[in-house]
Amino acid sequence: MKHEKIIWNPGTENWFCAKCGHTSEQTNIQEAELELDQQECTVPSSDTPGVAPGTETIRLIRKPYKMRLRTERSSGRFVAKSDEGTPVIQLELFHDTVPGLKAVSIAFELLSGTTAQQAMALVEAMNERIVGVIVTPKDHGEK
Ligand SMILES: [Zn+2]
Repeated sequence: MKHEKIIWNPGTENWFCAKCGHTSEQTNIQEAELELDQQECTVPSSDTPGVAPGTETIRLIRKPYKMRLRTERSSGRFVAKSDEGTPVIQLELFHDTVPGLKAVSIAFELLSGTTAQQAMALVEAMNERIVGVIVTPKDHGEK
């Protein structure tokens, strides 16, 4: 047996040698060993041994974490404010139920020249139709 450490990779559903990274499509380890023995246990390139299967395994571990990411909702309202003369619309949340929003304050900067009346009218329209904030953490993918 040329490959001493053959590991089952549930992600790609094949056996691979942890040392050289060679894979076998066989589902049975004995057959996988036979297939792998046709190749020498050498690292194909200068890559670190087993990098490709290892990456796959890491992705599998991360899957449950991804599934925990869920959409959070919070009701809130918009308030017209003046930030040093510039009208802004501040988002005020009624409940601090959204972890992602706890640490931040969200305001919308208005076009310069927007009057306080226009800002008020906009806020009124927003409050009339916008009932809440939906926050979904983004999946930043593999790093
Ligand atoms: Zn090997």
